[in-house]
Amino acid sequence: MSESTSMTSRKQALLTIASKQAQNGEKPQDSAAKEFGINSFNDQIMRERLPKEDYKKLRDTIKKGTKLDMNIANSVAHAMKEWAISKGVSHFTHWFQPQTGLTAEKHDAFLELDEGVVVERFRGNQLVQGEPDASSFPSGGSRTTFEARGYTMWDPSSPAFIVDGPKGGILCIPSVFISYTGEALDKKTPLLRSMEAISRSAMRLLRLFGNKTANRVITTIGTEQEYFLIDKAFYNLRPDLQITGRTLIGAQPPKGQQLDDHYFGAIKERVLSYMQDAEAELYKLAVPAKTRHNEVAPHQYELAPIFAEANVGADRNQLIMEILKKVANRHGLVALLHEKPFAGINGSGKHNNWSMQDSDGNNLLDPGHTPEQNLQFLVFLLSILRAVHKYGDLLRMSIASAPNDHRLGANEAPPAVISVFLGERLSTILDDIKEGISTKAVEDFIIDLGISKLPSILRDNTDRNRTSPFAFTGSKFEFRAIGSSASVSLPNTVLSAAVAESIDILTDEIEKLMQDGSNLNDAVLKVLKKYVIETEDIRFEGNNYSEEWEKEAARRGLPNVKKTAYALDAFLDSKNMDLLISQNVFSKKEIESRYNTKLEQYITTLEIEVDAFCDLADTRVVPAAIAYQGSLAETIKKLKDLGDDISPVAVATETELLKKISENIAQLVAGCREIRDRVAEAEDIEDLSQKAKFMADNVSDLLQTARVPADELETLISDDLWPLPKYSEMLFIM
Ligand code: ADP
Ligand code: MG
Repeated sequence: MSESTSMTSRKQALLTIASKQAQNGEKPQDSAAKEFGINSFNDQIMRERLPKEDYKKLRDTIKKGTKLDMNIANSVAHAMKEWAISKGVSHFTHWFQPQTGLTAEKHDAFLELDEGVVVERFRGNQLVQGEPDASSFPSGGSRTTFEARGYTMWDPSSPAFIVDGPKGGILCIPSVFISYTGEALDKKTPLLRSMEAISRSAMRLLRLFGNKTANRVITTIGTEQEYFLIDKAFYNLRPDLQITGRTLIGAQPPKGQQLDDHYFGAIKERVLSYMQDAEAELYKLAVPAKTRHNEVAPHQYELAPIFAEANVGADRNQLIMEILKKVANRHGLVALLHEKPFAGINGSGKHNNWSMQDSDGNNLLDPGHTPEQNLQFLVFLLSILRAVHKYGDLLRMSIASAPNDHRLGANEAPPAVISVFLGERLSTILDDIKEGISTKAVEDFIIDLGISKLPSILRDNTDRNRTSPFAFTGSKFEFRAIGSSASVSLPNTVLSAAVAESIDILTDEIEKLMQDGSNLNDAVLKVLKKYVIETEDIRFEGNNYSEEWEKEAARRGLPNVKKTAYALDAFLDSKNMDLLISQNVFSKKEIESRYNTKLEQYITTLEIEVDAFCDLADTRVVPAAIAYQGSLAETIKKLKDLGDDISPVAVATETELLKKISENIAQLVAGCREIRDRVAEAEDIEDLSQKAKFMADNVSDLLQTARVPADELETLISDDLWPLPKYSEMLFIM
């Protein structure tokens, strides 16, 4: 019975998809520019709606990072509320990034009763501070015992926005989330602190190079978001996708279906229509979605916005993920953000383009036009190299998650080894600096090289190494190993903290040499040379996917930690804790709470996957296989009854098939039993890290092997009986 109903639901899904067509959006795309930012409480609206003085003060807070004057909070809150109400909004929420999940919000109405009369009010203190029900957010506090309750606080540097709802919108106030004892409970507070660290150290270096006009440096990020699209009818028949985000069972599609020209091929109309609607939603929120294209796998796509200040960029990436999901639903599609939704098919990542910009708008990673500018650029560059060299393990930690483990090192994504790609031109320059200065014989040659002969650093966009986890791409670095579903906050926090420390150290050393009598250029070159040599091991220009690189990296002593349970250790490493604490990015408690939260998340993910897998096996795959087994057995019996003339060959074939099926069923059932036993064993382990490592060693690989008989069964039993949408359907039919 159950087989025949599942048969029809899978086949029915196929039929419904055939009748779906591209949806035309409500509005044509060219309205994008017109509607850009209409749901964002942006600068223009603030200027229009705020008293002049208040506007100026708020702008100072935003632009210069000064403290918000509480006296203007009421005025801003009022203006925000009036603006929101004019757009049909009745509720507001402090929108923040908890340690797990996308974003968190609790809606409150503007509604108040004033002596029984309804008024809509929004006060300054409600704008600035809110109180979510913090007890429902993981804080890692179970081990570190700090108060998980806390309050949210407006981050004025990220504009408030309205998310449209079916019956009126919600005013979202980008916020940070802090415990009553002052610890950051969210992902954004540390990011903001790391931006402060960069600004402080980078300003020192700019001043050293004679810059008198800039007063602040920001980090900028542009996140290229990858995702898959599948039809919702398929998704609804895949509890594994629904529960875990990835398929836990599924045979590879036939080879012929893999097309090579997919990458820049035409985007299907149904997909394009979806993308245009998603972009229109993003535009309203002032998220400047700029680029869309196909990715390497079938129905895998990418969306990239124009870059922004890191905290704004991080908020926008959260919005991009939310909108991609939300709008997909409207189109009868599902946007899969998981790092590896389909085994054996290229997974999804998030390229995090990163740079620094001074308050005059200069990109500090844009090689300049004059030798002096180039020298300054090189100090920033070597600071970054030092940061990645010294804190590669911490950067690896920052991108560690159970789903990302499926990508890193799987010969499709940057490996778990963190290295830097610079391109030929920059590499040559660094080699020249090293050689030039080591030629001790001609001291003035150094000075010569120092300034007038320093090769001009042209932007080099021809160099393309897509395999590097951390690549220089002309005027920014691209940190490519981040998972597609991850928040970019932690990787950017760690990166900025490490770079801030390095800039300080290089600046200290340059200043010291100058105090000892060197001129700026000599001092800079000496320090550059030192760090070119010190960081050489982290530079790699070749194919990061190759086995040779893995060997070479091991020879160089670079860490290559493949599993999250182990990669997380770097968070507690004393060198790394010293960095994060000394840069005022995290307190010890905050590190410990995040470490525990990450361990818990890792363990829970694997536990859920085991449950979902075994459930699929028990209730869908095994019953379907048994049904087929039964009909085969019956056929064999009938064939045998036909007598010796006909049956021997036929019976042999059917018997062989029956045997294979029976073996696979037995293996699958045994595999599930084993994997469940392991999870049960893990339950007795008290220490979270030990438990995570036990799961990594005993469960994560088993999940890969336990599915093999299930995948095999898919290729053996009748297509009519198979209960789960196949890869060949999900990935190719839309
Ligand atoms: P590429 O093709 O070299 O990767 P793109 O122009 O496609 O470059 O940019 C990719 C992403 O990098 C985009 O999101 C873009 O906005 C972002 N980006 C460009 N310049 C910077 C910068 N200075 N800082 C941060 N991100 C940047
Ligand atoms: Mg790119």
